[in-house]
Amino acid sequence: GLSGEQLNAAIKWDAQGLVPAIVQDAASKDVLMLAYMNKDSLKLTVESGETWFWSRSRSELWHKGATSGHIQKVKALKYDCDGDTLLVLVDQAGPACHTGKYSCFYNEVPVNGQTTEQAAQVTATSGGDRFAMLSRLETVIAERYAERPEGAYTTYLFEKGIDKILKKVGEETAEVIIAAKNRDNEELRYESSDLIFHLMVLLREAKLPLDDVMNELDRRHKK
Ligand code: AMP
Ligand code: ZN
Ligand code: ZN
Ligand code: ZN
Repeated sequence: GLSGEQLNAAIKWDAQGLVPAIVQDAASKDVLMLAYMNKDSLKLTVESGETWFWSRSRSELWHKGATSGHIQKVKALKYDCDGDTLLVLVDQAGPACHTGKYSCFYNEVPVNGQTTEQAAQVTATSGGDRFAMLSRLETVIAERYAERPEGAYTTYLFEKGIDKILKKVGEETAEVIIAAKNRDNEELRYESSDLIFHLMVLLREAKLPLDDVMNELDRRHKK
């Protein structure tokens, strides 16, 4: 491994002795926030396995989640080609943003007159990236997991916990079997959607990235 001294030498600290750190959800791969680290906060992050930053507004070391409880467990820490940016993959407890949002990046500027949501609608009907909705669904479920909006069915599942989620996966599996036995493809389409949705809720609860499932499928295919 890298010694603390080697790491500090590899990082290109700015004039204030800071380096920007991009924080990414290790499971969904969504970008959660950007903050700054100094030498002390980087050391604390490496040694504790939780993120520490330098608050530029308060001019103090900042243990993310110290007051909100929304701590970040570090799954991986990387730096880029020229050492001027850190990338921190985390297991995020609750929302990453102090506004209560899952990610700080909830403001979107339309490009070529379109937001990503609008572009996705077009893609879905024109046969582009056919399974992009799985990735978007993974993000929506991660948002629900972090924000727990009142009245949302996904919130209800996460609040009830793993046993309720497993029960639903079992029920939807049985409903898929019945639909297939009935030779009813409309019912099969509906129940398959239910099963995939609940399976993805389970993956979020387990913090297993959908990428890992996809990579497993890909590996088998390549054998
Ligand atoms: P926390 O570290 O989550 O306990 O939050 C403590 C304080 O840090 C908040 O009141 C905000 O001022 C600030 N803060 C927390 N999360 C963020 C964030 N994602 N981006 C910017 N400031 C934040
Ligand atoms: Zn760079
Ligand atoms: Zn924010
Ligand atoms: Zn069903």
